[in-house]
Amino acid sequence: MSEIQYEAVIGLEVHVQAETRSKMFTRVARGFGEPPNTLTDPVVLGLPGALPVMNLEAIEKSIKVGLLLGCEIARVCKWDRKNYFYPDMPKNYQISQYDQPICLGGEVEIELEGETRAVMGPHRKVKLTRIHLEEDVGKLTHYENDSLVDYNRAGSPLLEIVSEPDLFSPDEVFAYLTSLRNSLVYAGISDCDMEKGQMRCDANVSVRPVGQKELGTKVELKNLNTISGVRNGVEYEIQRQTSVLREGGSLTQETRRWNPDQRYTTAMRSKEMAHDYRYFPDPDLMPVKIDDAWIERIREEIPEMPFDKQRRFIEQYGLPYSSTSPLCPDKELCDFFEATVARCKDPKKAANWIVNDLLRELSSAGDEEGPMPLGNAKMTPAHVAELVNLVEEGSISSNIAKEIFPETFATGKMPAQIVDEKGLKQTSDTGELETICSQVITDQPKAVEEFKGGKENAINALKGQVMKATRGQANPKLVDEILRELLSQ
Ligand code: ADP
Ligand code: MG
Repeated sequence: MSEIQYEAVIGLEVHVQAETRSKMFTRVARGFGEPPNTLTDPVVLGLPGALPVMNLEAIEKSIKVGLLLGCEIARVCKWDRKNYFYPDMPKNYQISQYDQPICLGGEVEIELEGETRAVMGPHRKVKLTRIHLEEDVGKLTHYENDSLVDYNRAGSPLLEIVSEPDLFSPDEVFAYLTSLRNSLVYAGISDCDMEKGQMRCDANVSVRPVGQKELGTKVELKNLNTISGVRNGVEYEIQRQTSVLREGGSLTQETRRWNPDQRYTTAMRSKEMAHDYRYFPDPDLMPVKIDDAWIERIREEIPEMPFDKQRRFIEQYGLPYSSTSPLCPDKELCDFFEATVARCKDPKKAANWIVNDLLRELSSAGDEEGPMPLGNAKMTPAHVAELVNLVEEGSISSNIAKEIFPETFATGKMPAQIVDEKGLKQTSDTGELETICSQVITDQPKAVEEFKGGKENAINALKGQVMKATRGQANPKLVDEILRELLSQ
């Protein structure tokens, strides 16, 4: 008897902190890394009589997210209280949106590793159910005998982006989170750093026999702290569920915790039902009406999305896919590239300098935190463009350009200045090059003989010698012409 084959089905609930100046329902500042319990006020602490007031910036950012992910924006959305008793929320309820969220539907375009379909058109799109806006809760830290609470995060605007059960492998989950993060960072919604809790993800995982329509019993995974962590946790959970079923067991709907160090999941609790939260409309807040004019104004602020930019770079500048994939996830780097292209003639070469040399220099100038931010570098688009142009005009060879790149980067000196100071200008002095070429021809009888005997490649050995004699400063095109001329005599 052949073993039953199972397939995985995954739906993600992603929380993203919207980076606004103040909190969701009060004017106290929102922030990260401040001393505990300093970003609080009577509203955050739920003191009697304190009343919430909506944050316009948070609502506009939510509409923006909805628009960039192709959601339908609700014309009316409202606020509900999600009641629960736990010290991370001093009011004993969280203000959220239950049955009338701000965004409905939508999709996230995903690209699987190794896929190069950006060249041909859109990738697969994963369906979203809804996006709602709510307030974040405080952070508890548990010790052996007691727990401490910090309300700095409590009351910060938090978007919950809920996908349909429309992901089918750990790699798709990874691609989804990467794409979502890139898009949200592009639009200035959030930095989406999972390690700082700016983006958090719960994964709902189930398996079913291949060919079965109905979904299997789902398990909700928590404590997935990095994008790779989500991929690993989901991968483990799929295997665990598959072996339980293969061994004749059954699964229970529950919440499990991923232990990243030991790499396994453990049961936390069986899942609460929605009615446990006793949702009801918040009597302190009015529903929000959103009209077309408002939506259209926000639509104008949406930047080009990463995959759209990638397709455009390939088409408009003729860039190979391999240059666009390190470039396009980073909007600042893309802007740097386009500013360089505006000043030079060769977009492909400009892209090469940026994705190879500039990224390498940034990373070696960085520290444990990561590469040096582009904004801190002394190198500007004008520097890269000048380098491209110097090579293009034949003023310097590409080897010399490679050599001076690190110095330009480190000092901020313009490439032409370094070339002048060091006397690195390419020799296009025909008389001088003719003398050197004749000398090389005399010194290399074997290569000359091979070339004359029809071995075309033998000329490269001669060119190499000329380059060596001129310390790489000879104009390679000119050397080629002179050598051929001399050899034909
Ligand atoms: P709950 O009421 O338990 O919160 P929802 O229906 O709201 O469940 O779904 C929460 C998330 O779980 C969504 O992202 C959804 O796509 C996903 N999901 C629901 N059922 C399944 C399933 N059987 N397998 C995988 N994911 C699922
Ligand atoms: Mg739910």
